[in-house]
Amino acid sequence: MASVDTLITTAPGDTCAPDLADGPWTFDLGTPGYGPGASMGDIIPTGSPRQGALPAEYQRANNDELHDRIRAAKAALGRRVVVLGHFYQRDEVVQHADFLGDSFQLANAAQTVPDAEAIVFCGVHFMAETADILARPGQNVILPNLAAGCSMADMADIDSVEECWEQLTAIYGTDADESGRVPVIPVTYMNSSAALKAFCGRNGGIVCTSSNAATVLEWAFERGQRVLFFPDQHLGRNTAKAMGIPLDQMPMWNPRKPLGGNEPDALADARVILWHGFCSVHKRFTVDQIEKARAEYPGVRVIVHPECPMPVVDAADEAGSTDYIRRAVAGATEPTTFAIGTEVNMVNRLAAEYPQHEIFCLDPVICPCSTMYRIHPGYLAWVLEELVAGRVTNRISVDAAVAGDARVALDRMLAAKPRVA
Ligand code: SF4
Repeated sequence: MASVDTLITTAPGDTCAPDLADGPWTFDLGTPGYGPGASMGDIIPTGSPRQGALPAEYQRANNDELHDRIRAAKAALGRRVVVLGHFYQRDEVVQHADFLGDSFQLANAAQTVPDAEAIVFCGVHFMAETADILARPGQNVILPNLAAGCSMADMADIDSVEECWEQLTAIYGTDADESGRVPVIPVTYMNSSAALKAFCGRNGGIVCTSSNAATVLEWAFERGQRVLFFPDQHLGRNTAKAMGIPLDQMPMWNPRKPLGGNEPDALADARVILWHGFCSVHKRFTVDQIEKARAEYPGVRVIVHPECPMPVVDAADEAGSTDYIRRAVAGATEPTTFAIGTEVNMVNRLAAEYPQHEIFCLDPVICPCSTMYRIHPGYLAWVLEELVAGRVTNRISVDAAVAGDARVALDRMLAAKPRVA
């Protein structure tokens, strides 16, 4: 299948290294790019949040000291604070989380603690934005390190999506067909900025997660003739293919080219227009890795995330969200060998939690998510101690109008129900 990934990925060679584990502040100040890890070669959009200097005492403190300071600050704050930890965070951070989960599970979990004045989100920027959209008035959402973005979310910005929408509207018009379906429904993956969720809210569209993408596409096809899916081409392609949509009706939209790099004919037949975005963590998994795992571990159960490229999902035994993967491992009643295609921190944690199974990451190179690794315990200690001192630092606040429109798209997702067979 044609791919123009090389137009967006720029850095050559192997960029994987766990250097962010020890001192992400080294990369916060003036270093271009996301830092060592899977996303190192991706381009950070101009104007993305930057993190100021972390006070030296937190940079100098060792892990034991930071652990004690975080615990003390949490104890002092009590129910005034809730700490959320994404599955992909390192253990030194996750151990302080009140809730562990994927991005949407965590945003919802925060709502179960309405007394909390502060929600400290140990994840990435779009997750903190979603938590702020769902938070009650007066709650402050804090991202411990503002440089924790998401390279996939950054691949679709509101200006490029608006431009794409204008071009699609010029081709398809705005009139509904005889069954009342509009020409295009925009669908954004949860891993996107609040501005894109708001765009979907304003334009009859919806948000999806990796758990409910098929249900959301069914919702969209009941209301539209076709879908514009952003930012992750792989989740869109894998989901639509499983629903029986032919690949030649899924053109890719490269925002750097006129008509997304497509001929008008290709767009005329399109059912799902896939934005040219991808997760650099999941793009690393290959069919060769699966074949090697099968050769070395006969009977191995291969589970990958649907952000992986289509040939990898096709070659795996199963594909599912982080929560699906976690439940699959937890539910295995017999000792099983699992080869897993998702972020290495989560895989290593599963391996430690379930020693009765043999669990390993499909990718033998340690290549963490560069942006998740920006959350070091030093930043967590800093923002918590600032709260103890009565100061809110690194607050993520979504403009009220944007939040209102984004909420519309999120509420549509919550109301969408799988079709009963
Ligand atoms: S794993 Fe991929 S999608 Fe998730 S935060 Fe990292 S870059 Fe973004």
